[in-house]
Amino acid sequence: MHPLEEFAKVFGVGSSANGWTYSFWSGFGSCLAYFGAIGMAWRHLNCHAKGCWRLGRHPIAGGKYKVCHRHHPDITSRSVPVDELHAMHADHLKSK
Ligand SMILES: [Zn+2]
Repeated sequence: MHPLEEFAKVFGVGSSANGWTYSFWSGFGSCLAYFGAIGMAWRHLNCHAKGCWRLGRHPIAGGKYKVCHRHHPDITSRSVPVDELHAMHADHLKSK
């Protein structure tokens, strides 16, 4: 007996060689579907700038698109001084 078959038997995954190959390929197929779903979710979540793979967390154009910190016009660096953040927050409240 093939060692893999024995292994499969112990874990109750298909007792015949055919059963083993079937469960292997169906597992592989659902794996591909899984990665496809992740890819689609990523395309939805990532930055809308063309060719950019970063996570788009910052809404732009009134929330129509989301871009990464690199492609947002208001974000010039990754870290902003706290007083600057507070000033921006105050401006935002005033403009509401
Ligand atoms: Zn980007």
